[in-house]
Amino acid sequence: MQQTLTHQQLVDIANEFGTPVYVYHAERIAGQYQQLKNAFKDSNARFFYACKSLTNINVLRYINSLGASLDCVSIYEVKLGLMAGFEPKNILFTPNCVDFDEIVQAKELGVNINIDNISILEQFGSKYGNSYPVCIRLNPHIMAGGNFKISTGHVDSKFGISIHQMRHIERVVKTTNLNVEGVHMHTGSEIKDINVFLLGLDVMLNTIEHFPNLKYIDLGSGFKVPYQPGDSETDVDLLGQKIAQAFLQFENKKVKDLAVWFEPGKYLVSQAGYFITKTNVIKQTPAALFAGVNSGFNHLIRPMMYDAYHHIENITNPTGAERIYNVVGNICETDTFAYDRKINEIREGDYLVFYNAGAYGFEMSSNFNSRLKPAEVLVKDGKAQLIRRRDEFEDLLRNQVI
Ligand SMILES: *Cc1c(COP(=O)(O)O)cnc(C)c1O
Repeated sequence: MQQTLTHQQLVDIANEFGTPVYVYHAERIAGQYQQLKNAFKDSNARFFYACKSLTNINVLRYINSLGASLDCVSIYEVKLGLMAGFEPKNILFTPNCVDFDEIVQAKELGVNINIDNISILEQFGSKYGNSYPVCIRLNPHIMAGGNFKISTGHVDSKFGISIHQMRHIERVVKTTNLNVEGVHMHTGSEIKDINVFLLGLDVMLNTIEHFPNLKYIDLGSGFKVPYQPGDSETDVDLLGQKIAQAFLQFENKKVKDLAVWFEPGKYLVSQAGYFITKTNVIKQTPAALFAGVNSGFNHLIRPMMYDAYHHIENITNPTGAERIYNVVGNICETDTFAYDRKINEIREGDYLVFYNAGAYGFEMSSNFNSRLKPAEVLVKDGKAQLIRRRDEFEDLLRNQVI
C-alpha cells in the first residue's frame, strides 16, 4: 500500500506555510520508483526521471539519491540536473526544435543526446562524426495518449524522425560515420493501454539491424496514474513481464544485450503532490453553487488546459454534508477547476486540497493577472520543509527595466 499524507498533516502545513501551497511527499516518490524497478526487474531497465514534470532542485536531488537518472527537454533542465548532482552520463537530453547551439552545449556538458530531426542529425554528424554517440528519436506513427495536446507519436506530430525515413537516416549515419547508441520513442502521456508500448517496442526492435552499435532502446514514458477515485492506471507489472518476454522472443539475438530505458515523469511525482488552497468566497447563482478559492489556472492549469480531473477534498470540514459545487479560481476569465463536484460542505475559509498535483502543477504555473506563485513544501521523514518561498510583490517586477 502506497503512502499518502493525512488531512491533519495537510492542514498543519497550510497553517504553517500559508496557502496556496504545493506539498510533495518524498517517500511516495520513492515508492513509485520502487514499483517501476520491481515491474521491470526482468529487463536491463533504467529510469530517467522526466524532470519537466517537477524541477524543484530539492526534488531533483532527492530523486538522484534514489539512484534514478534524468531526462531533460531543455539545456536549462540539463544544468539544473547537473547542479542537483546527476552525473552527465545519467542525463539524457531530449529536446525538440532547438537551435543546434543547444545541442553543442549539451555535448560539451557530456550528457546523452537524443536527436529528433534529420537536419540536426546531419549537422551533428558533420561536426563530430563518430566521436560522440547519439540516440535517435523515431516517430513510430502510433496514436496514443489521454489528450491530443499530449499525444506525440502520431503521424501529424512534430516529434521524432518518421520510421519511414529510415533510408535517409541510414544515409546520414553512413556518410558522417555517426555512432548511434540508442533509438527512442515517446508516444504521449496518460497511456493506459500497454499494447501501445508493446507495439512501439516492436517498431523499435525492427530498427536494430540498421544500427550495429546500438546499446539501448528508449521507450519514453506516458504511464497513466489514477486521477479519479477508482480510476485505472497503466499495469506496469504486466508491461514489465511482456517487455521482458518480447526481448527474449525477438528472433535477432543481438537484442538480449540491449538495455531498455524509460522516462517517467508523471508516474514518479504526480501522486506525491498535493495542492492546498483556501476558499475565499461561496457564491450561489441562479445556476450553480460556486466555491471560489485563492488560486486559479495560473497555479494549476491542467483542468483548463487538458480537461484534467483533479480530486478535491475539503480538509477542514471532512464530515460536512455533501453538496454539489463548481470549484473556481480567481482569474479574470472562465477559470474552473471542477464542475458539479460533490464535496463536503465548503465554508468560506475552508482549505480544499487538490490531489495528484505533483506533476505539471507548479511547473506550469505563471504570474498571470499579476498574482504570486505559490510556495512549495517537501515532506520527508515526517518533517515538512519549505523548498521554495512564495512569490512576493517584488518578484513581479524582477527583470523589468523601469
Ligand atoms: C513529457 C515527456 C516524458 C514524460 O511524460 P509523462 O507522461 O510525464 O511520464 C518523457 N519523455 C519525453 C520525451 C517527454 O516529452
